[in-house]
Amino acid sequence: MKKIIFATGNQGKMKEIREILKDLDVEVLSLKDAGIQADIVEDGKTFEENAVIKAKTICEMTGEIVLADDSGLEIDYLNKEPGVYSARYMGEDTSYHVKNASLIKRLEGVPDEKRTARFVCVIAAVFPDGTVKTARGVMEGRIGYEEKGENGFGYDPIFYLPEYGCYSAELSMEEKNKISHRGKALRAMKEELR
Ligand code: IMP
Repeated sequence: MKKIIFATGNQGKMKEIREILKDLDVEVLSLKDAGIQADIVEDGKTFEENAVIKAKTICEMTGEIVLADDSGLEIDYLNKEPGVYSARYMGEDTSYHVKNASLIKRLEGVPDEKRTARFVCVIAAVFPDGTVKTARGVMEGRIGYEEKGENGFGYDPIFYLPEYGCYSAELSMEEKNKISHRGKALRAMKEELR
């Protein structure tokens, strides 16, 4: 069976990735499964650049096909902030409760139609011969006025989905995977890999 390394240490992501790629007949290994320890500097200006930096670094280390993702939240009213800095916004160690409260505050008085935002995910695949492929998925929504919901992570409690009439943190994992930026990017990449 062919091997693919997915350059993440996040077990939650691995579960989702294995579920979506299960009919590809490949073994998907995490960095830990592959015995790799790497401290990669994500200094790209776009999600594409960061995903490719991660996948390329691990591909060069291992000689295997490597996938990597980069994702974040773009808020239109804040010129697409926090964007590629989503994890680092206000500092890596700051709680999401504090980060979410800060974003709601920065949008104080901003009407519904200007609160548009999206989660973006880019998956990159780098092959040992140097070939690079990327796939992008987005989930459109709006920044709400309060935090709501117990599921998900990160900015999910302030991300309102008008089409579904609920916050992203109110969706079950299965529901979110069907419509999420990461689910869409992964399914698009799966078609590229076939
Ligand atoms: P990374 O792609 O693992 O580097 O994550 C980027 C950051 O974007 C995360 O730490 C979260 O802050 C945010 N983010 C990405 N996807 C989601 C999501 O599905 N829900 C909530 N926050 C997300």
